[in-house]
Amino acid sequence: MRLPTIALAGAILLATVVGAQTYPVTQGKTYKFEKIADGVYYATGGFGSNNVVIVNDQDVLVVDDGTTPAAARAFLDDIKKITDKPVRYVVNTHFHYDHTDGNSVFGPEVQIIAHDYVRTAIATFDVLNREPFITSQKTAVPARIDTLTKQIAAEKDTQKKAALQKDLAAAQTTLNQLKEIKPTPPNVTYSSKMILHKGAREIQLLFLGRGHTGGDTVVFLPRDRIVCTGDLMESRLAYMGDAFFDEWVTTLGALKNLDFALVLPGHGAPFGDKGLITAFQGYLTDITKKVADLRAQGVTAEEAARRVDLTSHAKDFPQITGPGADVRGVRRIYAWMDERAAGSRNK
Ligand SMILES: [Zn+2]
Repeated sequence: MRLPTIALAGAILLATVVGAQTYPVTQGKTYKFEKIADGVYYATGGFGSNNVVIVNDQDVLVVDDGTTPAAARAFLDDIKKITDKPVRYVVNTHFHYDHTDGNSVFGPEVQIIAHDYVRTAIATFDVLNREPFITSQKTAVPARIDTLTKQIAAEKDTQKKAALQKDLAAAQTTLNQLKEIKPTPPNVTYSSKMILHKGAREIQLLFLGRGHTGGDTVVFLPRDRIVCTGDLMESRLAYMGDAFFDEWVTTLGALKNLDFALVLPGHGAPFGDKGLITAFQGYLTDITKKVADLRAQGVTAEEAARRVDLTSHAKDFPQITGPGADVRGVRRIYAWMDERAAGSRNK
């Protein structure tokens, strides 16, 4: 689709369609900012999470900061296209690398705020040597470099070879950027609710219960009726490798009780329909039950991940194209059931 462009105050504004809604766009070098409401921008196009920028009277709060220090620096550079106010607050919606590994670029004057659990997780879980970092980045990027190197050696067509070499250079850049990661815990934590009062704007940080992880925050803007949900609720299926499944369904119920008109998720696209949250609750209930049934038949988690059939949810989550589910989530269902059977409180 060709988009109309309008030059305004040095920024390029494009009209873009997100769902049924059109928002003005400022395109940075890396990130695209959609102006959702006055002072509220949804940032996409970086490495890792989709982020949110909230511009206050004196300062800026950002929600999540991407996979690498390089991604966070690119984000900060691009934010200068929408405001000259300083970033003073970073909210980490949860501990996963794609939302927090930009943390190390912020100076001590910046408050990095998250649920208590996020600080514990980043400080003690050895996050670069566990899932989801291992399969998503640590082993995936070197494997891609290896594959591309072999393809380049075998490719005879010069144009195709050049395209592969470009991909290889990009993968090598990614690998170098991953090496720069220094997991950095939040320096301000809370346990159930925290409110920032910023002029006329109230920014609520809410822990609604365990779910996607043991400590997900939603950022609620009551005046604008906007909620930033991280990966507690995406517009697509979320990673489930650290989940608490029955609690997640309950926590999503608490999310639906908030008075919002728009969700800005950690991945995917903004949406306003609470029916999508209900659909995801249904998916979670269904995968938990179906995997439990397979486990009761004595099959391994890997086999259950191949066999579990969730295709009836494909109408809501089009990434489902056939039977099967992410093995990391299915392994987590097995472990979570063991924990429950043992009555333990998993970290
Ligand atoms: Zn994420």
